[in-house]
Amino acid sequence: MVKPKTEEEIELLRENAIIVSKTLAEVGKRVAPGVTTLELNRVAETFIRDNGAVPSFLGFEGFPAALCMSVNDVVVHGFPSDYVLREGDIVSVDCGTLYKGYNGDSAYTFPVGEVDAETRSLLDVTKASLYKGIEAAVAGNRTGDIGYAVQSYAESFGFSVVRELEGHGLGKEMHEEPGVPNYGRRGKGTHLVEGMVICIEPMINAGARGVYLARNGWAVHTSDHRKSAHYELTVVVRKGKAEQLSTYDFIEKDGTVNI
Ligand code: MG
Ligand code: MG
Repeated sequence: MVKPKTEEEIELLRENAIIVSKTLAEVGKRVAPGVTTLELNRVAETFIRDNGAVPSFLGFEGFPAALCMSVNDVVVHGFPSDYVLREGDIVSVDCGTLYKGYNGDSAYTFPVGEVDAETRSLLDVTKASLYKGIEAAVAGNRTGDIGYAVQSYAESFGFSVVRELEGHGLGKEMHEEPGVPNYGRRGKGTHLVEGMVICIEPMINAGARGVYLARNGWAVHTSDHRKSAHYELTVVVRKGKAEQLSTYDFIEKDGTVNI
């Protein structure tokens, strides 16, 4: 049985979620052809520390940076590098914070300049599949209801769901129970209880669902080297409707990113 969070804990998780949400927006403002992912990482780390938080990914099991920066066929866990972003690329940015003893964790895939129609669709469908998952994250449902919602939506567009990685509970630890797969069967999995805080994070491939781990032991690539998108938000399971803690409003409502 997964223990729900107290409202006091949820407030601390909300503070983290806002810092993470704003950090993603700071990164998004600077995503453009000619920029390196290392520069974007620097912007994020400075912003996180200026807000009194610590980048929780840095040093986590040896991860070398504040953010995961996953370009094109990299699904997740890419290292920021001196790779120069090019028109038509996509970059998945995953950000984690530690603040007042609790964690924040959210991700967004940004288009670099103009992307082709299929890539645009991959981004839109992946983000929409996340919101489908959030709709299913209500008390009385089970994690399989979330997975089913994400999977059935994404696959209806001919895209595929990465199964090797999944969402998770969030609290004092970055990864807590329950695991939240992006595929599944309705009525199966862990029971969702009011007050549980979970990260839902679909990783959706344009082509086949197969992935492999790079030699550095971190970056997860699509086996067919087609693009993959990743969106992640933190929500509280409530009765009737989940409550979002992190948000894309800072990215999408100030007009700086072409969505
Ligand atoms: Mg994440
Ligand atoms: Mg996560």
